[in-house]
Parts: sequence; C-alpha cells; structure tokens
Amino acid sequence: MKSILVTGGAGFIGANLVEHLIKSNHNCKIVVIDALTYAGDVHNLNRVKNARNFKFVHGNICDRGLIERVFQHYLITDVIHLAAESHVDNSISHPDVFIETNVKGTFTLLDVAYKYWMEKPFVFKHGFEESRFLHVSTDEVYGTLGETGLFTEETAYAPNSPYSASKASSDLIVRSYHHTYGMNTVITNCSNNYGPKQHDEKLIPTVIRKALAGEHIPIYGDGKNIRDWLYVLDHCKGIEVAFFKGKSGEVYNIGGENERNNNYIAGQICEILDTLKPLENKSYKDLISYVEDRAGHDFRYAIDATKIETNLGWKADENFESGILKTVQWYLEKYQ
Ligand code: NAD
Repeated sequence: MKSILVTGGAGFIGANLVEHLIKSNHNCKIVVIDALTYAGDVHNLNRVKNARNFKFVHGNICDRGLIERVFQHYLITDVIHLAAESHVDNSISHPDVFIETNVKGTFTLLDVAYKYWMEKPFVFKHGFEESRFLHVSTDEVYGTLGETGLFTEETAYAPNSPYSASKASSDLIVRSYHHTYGMNTVITNCSNNYGPKQHDEKLIPTVIRKALAGEHIPIYGDGKNIRDWLYVLDHCKGIEVAFFKGKSGEVYNIGGENERNNNYIAGQICEILDTLKPLENKSYKDLISYVEDRAGHDFRYAIDATKIETNLGWKADENFESGILKTVQWYLEKYQ
C-alpha cells in the first residue's frame, strides 16, 4: 500500500485532489501536510476527514525536522507536492514568502524524500526508483504569449512575476534531483484552475462574491488578458494520471483548450447570476468596473496538452461553460 504525502492538501486544488483520490479507491494512505496559511482551510477536507486511510498534519514544509518525522512516522512512499504561495498579486507586494515556501520548501521536501527513500527502500519492499515525487506547477513559468502560439513542454522558461519565478525555480530543483540523483520525479504544468473551494482572493470567486454583494466587480486593465481555464476536477484527474502512469523525469502540460479573456469570464458569470438570482431592473453586468492593471500583467497563456492526452490518455471533461455553471452554483450556496 502506498503512503502518499500530499502537501498543501487544505488548499483549493489539494483539497479537491485528496477528495478525488480517496473516492477513487486507489488502496493508498493519504497524509496531508498543510501550514493552514490564510489560503488553507481545514474544513475543505471535511468530506474525507473520517476516512480510514486519511491523516492530517498541521505543519510547514520548510520545517525539515517535522518533514523527516512525518516520513518516518507514516512510512511515506510517495509525494504529491502542491503546497505553495499561489497568488500573483501577493507575490508582487511580498515576494519573500514565495521564495521561502515555493523554493526552500520544495527543496526541503525533495531532499528529505531523496535521503529517506535512498536509505530505507527495504521498508517499502520496493526499490528507490519506485517512490515518486510529483511536483504540481503552473504554465506561468513559460512567461507570456502574444495573440498566437501554445506552451509545450519544450517552451523555454521565462517567468515574469515573483510567483512564477519561484515556481520556475522549484521546477528546476525537482528536475535536478532526477538528473543528478536518479529520483523518480514528474512535473505537471497546468493552466488556470477554477471550481469549488478556491480562495476568495482569486478572479472567479471575486466576481461572484462582489456581484452577490452588489459591489463593483473589479477587472484589471481592459479585461482582455487571456487564460486557458481548466475545471479543478479535470486538473486533479490529470495529476492522478501523471502520478500513476507518467514516466519518471517527464514533464506534462495540463490544459483544457478553454482560452477565455477576463471580460468574457465576468460576463458569463453575470449572465448565469441574472438567470439564477435576477436583480430588479438591471443586470449584474452593470457592476463591472475596470481598475488599474496588475504590474507586469502577462497577456496570454495557452497550453498544448497533446503529450498528456496522447501518452497518458487524459482529456478534460468540462468545457468552460459547463464548469463555470457548476462553479457559480457552488458559490451561490457558499455565499448565501
Ligand atoms: P492555494 O493557495 O489554494 O493552496 C495552497 C495551500 O498550501 C494552502 O492550503 C496553504 O495553507 C498551503 N501552504 C502554503 N504555504 C505552506 C507551507 N509553507 N507549508 C505547508 N503548507 C503551505 O493554492 P492552489 O490554487 O490550490 O494551488 C496548489 C498548487 O497548484 C500550487 O503549487 C500552485 O502553484 C499550483 N497551480 C495552481 C493553479 C491555479 O490556477 N490555482 C494552476 C496551476 C498550478
């Protein structure tokens, strides 16, 4: 039986992933470690907290002594690493914590895992090579695109924000542990996620929350920045397939071919709310207002997911329009 350490499991993607893995009956123990920063919420794990094969540890991935104890106590065989500072705006105002968690934290986990798995393969009754470290990363490491083109796994790294630079650094450290020490690593670079349990600070929850409160819905710049949106459960299924079937040392881009700009997203949400919770004599669209653009705002991200689709058989189930309807319905319940 695998004993998988999932870092950042109380966050948006982590909590959705843990729920999905436990539902999918993989015969694994799932140990979540999470520092419960402002972005983490232990209640995100309510649906799995009583599962026989689930454990929660409150702690910081930069705390080497704690990570070593967790490996020893739970006989950790694999890691799926999601813990990170994840909000680009915060990285512009407070880059230091991004370097600490995303760079030093990733290094600490990797180094503990490497030494533990090297020394203790007999504990797991399988070789060092079988213990996998899957690192969850972002398409933002590739920088920005113009009107055309897609990010592939071969696209050169060109991060533009302290967030994406810290994620790019962590990807390179993971890469080095595969090439130097032979660790069984996989890196996934995914596009923008949306769905249940996302922190209020992010674009889609902000649009829904502000609309329901009757406040101005803030959109950066002219609203024409484009992201390739992926429903969070599709991302979780991509991580799952990369973890169980991916090849050691490989990188897989995950994206849903759902390029949409911020104007379209805010408009779609307003139209759904106009139907589900109409206002008297006006549309939620009247609340949209434009605010000063984010510093260094990347224009467009878009993923070519051919590799994970062809080699591992993954494909997104949701398109943006079906996923956003489910998402708005979920937040309507949360904010009512
Ligand atoms: P999130 O901010 O919702 O959750 C991050 C979690 O990590 C939180 O629970 C937080 O408490 C925890 N955490 C932060 N610092 C920690 C530390 N030092 N030690 C232990 N736990 C810590 O983020 P998310 O959106 O769920 O993203 C998860 C991962 O996926 C990140 O690595 C992010 O870079 C990556 N990613 C996110 C997206 C996206 O659109 N959200 C897209 C691609 C990749």
